[in-house]
Amino acid sequence: MARIPFVCGNWKLNKTPDEACALAQDLRARLDGAPGVEVGVCPPFVCIPAVAEALKGSTVSVGGQDIFWMEKGAYTGEVSGPMLVSAGCRYVIVGHSERRGRFAKPGPELAGDLMAVFGDNDTTVNRKALAALSAGLRPIICVGETLEERQAGRTEVVVEAQVRAGLAGVRPEQAEEVVLAYEPVWAIGTGEKCDDEEANRVCGLVRRLLAQVWGPEKAQGIRVLYGGSVDAQNAPGLMRQSEVDGGLVGGKSLIADDFEKIVKAAQQGKGMG
Ligand code: PEP
Repeated sequence: MARIPFVCGNWKLNKTPDEACALAQDLRARLDGAPGVEVGVCPPFVCIPAVAEALKGSTVSVGGQDIFWMEKGAYTGEVSGPMLVSAGCRYVIVGHSERRGRFAKPGPELAGDLMAVFGDNDTTVNRKALAALSAGLRPIICVGETLEERQAGRTEVVVEAQVRAGLAGVRPEQAEEVVLAYEPVWAIGTGEKCDDEEANRVCGLVRRLLAQVWGPEKAQGIRVLYGGSVDAQNAPGLMRQSEVDGGLVGGKSLIADDFEKIVKAAQQGKGMG
C-alpha cells in the first residue's frame, strides 16, 4: 500500500499570531494542492486560530504542539483535544523530546531542576495520544534516543519502549490515524545529521513494532516520519528511504523557501514530484 508522505513543521516557541499568519499565507501560496504529499504546520497555541484562518480551504493542515488528556477542568495552562479541534487542528504532536525534557544540548536557562518544567513521560505521552484520538485528532507520536543512549547501544530498546508505551490501548481501527516520528534527540536542533540508512533502519524498526501491535497489513499503512535537523540539503536523501514517510521539521519549517524544498523532496523521493 502506498503511503502518502507527510511533512509537518513544528514551529516551537516562535512567531506571534501576526507573524504566524504571514508565514502561513506564504506557505499556502507555495504548497496548497501539492500533489502526492500532505503538509502540516504546528504553531504555538495562541497562533492556531490565525493560522487556521489563513489556511482555511487549503490542503495544508494545522496541528497543536501538545495536548492535555482531560477535556476541561482545573488544569491551569493546559489545552484539550476539543479545544484544538475547535481552533482548527487536525493533528497534534505528542511526546516531542523537548516536552519529555530530553534536550540534545540544554542551555543554561534549563539548568538544574528547571528542566522538570518539561515533564512528559511514557505514561503521559500515552494518555495524550489516546486523548487526541478521542477528540478526532491525529497524534504525531515522537520517539527517539539521546546520544548517551545511542552510545550505550540502547537505541532499539529505548525506541521500542517508547513506541509500545505510546500506543498502549490504541484500538486497531484507530491505527491509521496515528503518525509516528522517529526523532533522535541528538539530531534535533543541533545540525547533527542522522545517516539516511540509519534513519531508514530505525523507521523500519518502528514499522516492525507497529506490525507486532496491529499486524503487518495495518503497519504498511501508517506513516513513520523522520525528524532531526532536516533541511533542503539532506531532505532528498532522507525522503528517498523506503521506510521514511516524510519529516517532522523544526528550524527549517520557519523558512518558507527551505520548507518548500523539503516538501518537494518528499514528493520527489516518493516518485510524486
Ligand atoms: C523538531 O522540532 O521536531 C525537530 C526535528 O527540530 P529540528 O528540525 O530543528 O531539528
